[in-house]
Amino acid sequence: MLLTITTTATPATDLGFLLHKHPERVQEFSQSFGTATVFYPEAGAERCTAALMLEVDPIALVRSRGKNSPDFSLSQYVNDRPYAASSLLAVALADVFRTARAGRCKARPELPGTPLPLELLLPALPCRGGPDLARRLFEPLGWEVDAGPVPLDEGFPEWGESRYVRLVLRGTCRLSDALNHLYVLLPVLDDGKHYWVAPDEVDKLIRAGEGWLHGHPERGLITRRYLGRRWALARTALARLAELGDETEEELEPAVEPIVEEPAAEGPAAEGPVVERSAVEEPIVEGPAVEEPAVEELVVEEKATPLNLRRREAVLAKLAELGATSVIDLGCGRGELVGALLSQPRFARVGGMDVSPMALTIAARKLRLDRMPDAKRARLTLFQGALTYTDRRLSGYDAAVLMEVIEHVDPPRLAALEQVVFGHAQPRHVLVTTPNIEHNVRYEFLTGLRHPDHRFEWTRAEFAAWATRVAGRYGYQVAFTPVGDDDPEVGPPTQMGVFTRDQRS
Ligand code: SAH
Repeated sequence: MLLTITTTATPATDLGFLLHKHPERVQEFSQSFGTATVFYPEAGAERCTAALMLEVDPIALVRSRGKNSPDFSLSQYVNDRPYAASSLLAVALADVFRTARAGRCKARPELPGTPLPLELLLPALPCRGGPDLARRLFEPLGWEVDAGPVPLDEGFPEWGESRYVRLVLRGTCRLSDALNHLYVLLPVLDDGKHYWVAPDEVDKLIRAGEGWLHGHPERGLITRRYLGRRWALARTALARLAELGDETEEELEPAVEPIVEEPAAEGPAAEGPVVERSAVEEPIVEGPAVEEPAVEELVVEEKATPLNLRRREAVLAKLAELGATSVIDLGCGRGELVGALLSQPRFARVGGMDVSPMALTIAARKLRLDRMPDAKRARLTLFQGALTYTDRRLSGYDAAVLMEVIEHVDPPRLAALEQVVFGHAQPRHVLVTTPNIEHNVRYEFLTGLRHPDHRFEWTRAEFAAWATRVAGRYGYQVAFTPVGDDDPEVGPPTQMGVFTRDQRS
C-alpha cells in the first residue's frame, strides 16, 4: 500500500527536512506487521514527492494480534490488508513521520508552522461510504478532494467497481496537520472494525484532532468510527470534544449509525484479520468483551445535559441572581455565553474578549453578527485582547466571567491576569469556573488532563486556596458553587468561584 506526499513549495526539497527523511536515501522501518519504506520518486527544487510504501507481512500481522483476538483461519492470510491503505498505513505513518506529525523540525524551526501547497495520493483506499464520504471528511478541512472508485479489474470494466477509492487531496496546509488528518481519517474511512481499540485511543484522537476535529461537521461519525464503535469510548471522546465548547447535544447520541451493524456471529473478521492497533503500538489494555455499556446507562447519559451547557446555565443564573446588567465574558471563545447573554434583555451591555482571532471569527459567525438587528448589536462589544495586559476596555461592567479560562494560562502568568481583572478592571462581581481535577477519575478513560491546552487542573482545595488569596489581596469576598452533579466523593466536574467586591473597597 502506498501514500505519496508532493509539494511544489520552493524549494520543494524542504519536504525532506520536514519529514526528517533525506531525499537521496531509501529508508526502511520495521513495523510489527511488516516493513515501511520511505523514498522520493522525485526531488527537484520545484516539485518533490515522498512515498511511504508499506509491505504487510500477513504472518507478522497475525502474530501481532493480542491474545484476546479471535482466530479467522484463512482470512488471516488472504485479505486486502497488504494492498489497501488502512489503519495499518495510519499506524506506520505515525511511527515513521512521528516528528513531522508533532510539527517539530530542529534544523528549520520555522518550517513546520508554514502552510505548504500539498498533494496527497492514496491509490487504493478502502472507503466505506464511497467517494462521497471521502469528500465529506476532507473538504471541511480545506482539501480539494478528487476521489474516484477503482474498477475491480481494468481489463474487465463490466465487472464494475471495487470498494476502493483512488484519493487525491490538494490543498495548502501545514504538513503536521495533513499527517494528522490522514492518521485519524484513514481508519475512519476504512471503518476499521478489524482492530480492538484501547482506551488510550481517546487521548490519541483528541491529540491528533487538536485544532480541527472539534469544529468538524462530521466529528460524531469520525469519533465513533475511529473508536471502533465502542460507545463508552466514543461518548468519552465526544464529551471531551464538547469540553472544547463546540458541540451540540445531539452529537452525544449515537443514533446516526446503528450500534450493532453486523450479526454478532460474523464478528470483526468480515473484512480481514483482527489487528489490534494497541498491540501494534503498545500492549493491549483490555479485551473486547467489556466495551458496550448497559443500555440504561447509555440512555441516562445521553439524556443528561452536556457539561458545557450546565456551566453556561449556572453562570447565567448566578449573574441574574446577582442582578448584573452589564457583563463581560473574558476568554469568550466561540461566543456561546455571549449569545446567551444577548438573548436575555436584562443584560443591557455585553462584552466578549478573547486572545484568539480565530475564536473571535467563529464567534462572529455563530452570533451572525453581520445580520444582527441594530438594537441587539448595539448592546455588544466583541474584541481581541489578552488577559495578562491591563486594558481599559475591560472596565465598567457589573460582572466579569472567566469560564474555563484560567487553566489555559501558564501559572507564572496568572498573577498578571489577577492584577488585570481584580486589580484593574475591578468589576463588582467576577465568576470563575475551572475543572475540578478530583472529578477526573469519573471520566472512565481519561489519562491526562481534560484538554491538551490545559496548563493545570486544580483540586477543590487548590482552587479555594487560590481564590481566597486573590479575594483577600484585591478586596473581594468569594463563595464557591458546584457545577454539574456534586459527587459525594470527588465533588462536581466543574467548580465555580463567585467573587464580590467588598462594599468599602
Ligand atoms: N469561555 C469559553 C471558552 C473556554 S476555552 C467557554 O467556556 O466555552 C479558553 C479560552 O480562553 C480560549 O478561547 C482561549 O483563546 C482563551 N484564552 C486563553 N488565554 C487567554 C488570554 N491570556 N487572554 C484572553 N483569552 C485567553
